[in-house]
Amino acid sequence: MVSIGSNLQEVKRRLAAASASAGRDAKSVTLLAVSKTFPAAAVRQAHGLGQREFGENYVQEALDKIDALADLRSGIEWHLIGPLQSNKTRPVAGAFDWVHSVDRLKIAQRLAEQRPDKLPPLNLCLQVNISGEPSKSGVLPADTLALAQAVAALPVDRVRLRGLMSIPEPASDPAAQRAPHRALRELMDSLNAQGLQLDTLSMGMSADLEAAVLEGATMVRVGSALFGQRA
Ligand SMILES: *Cc1c(COP(=O)(O)O)cnc(C)c1O
Repeated sequence: MVSIGSNLQEVKRRLAAASASAGRDAKSVTLLAVSKTFPAAAVRQAHGLGQREFGENYVQEALDKIDALADLRSGIEWHLIGPLQSNKTRPVAGAFDWVHSVDRLKIAQRLAEQRPDKLPPLNLCLQVNISGEPSKSGVLPADTLALAQAVAALPVDRVRLRGLMSIPEPASDPAAQRAPHRALRELMDSLNAQGLQLDTLSMGMSADLEAAVLEGATMVRVGSALFGQRA
């Protein structure tokens, strides 16, 4: 039996320690609890322990959970962190607070068109293929500025470009973990130097959250360290 309560405490302890060694305020890093494959009851339990931000990968699974937890909706922030096909943008635009996985303009355009006007703007991050591997999803670093400029030009009452997200290759040694996180931070800095106003670096997971915090992550996406191993 995993205890979400003690896992949550341990992840927060790791985040606090990493923030302290980076000389950062622990409050500058948001913990996104990745609840994919775990039932709504697990989310409800984590919410009861004070967790407010949840990340999901699969649109239909997420919509079902959002529905099942409708009574908590005003106290939960839902983040889509998995791939988004253009035929699924409408329900996502209506149900989520953030989408981290925007990798082409068409997706952002559809989200902007379909975001209900009674809702606040949908927060967007561009998913970057930071190591440039051909098989990986995400926009290539060299194409990120043009995409960011185009997304930032969409109606800001519908979508707001907040930052960058990446899923680097797993690595076990700390230096190898830090290199792609540093590259993503430097890419965000260079976009901001070109006039963009990005404030979010979504990087770091259960295995490498320390490396991500040391390189400037503002949001870490943690699944198994909170909810246990996925089936
Ligand atoms: C599953 C997933 C995570 C969480 O991974 P863990 O190793 O379980 O912490 C983070 N980000 C994305 C995009 C994921 O798909």
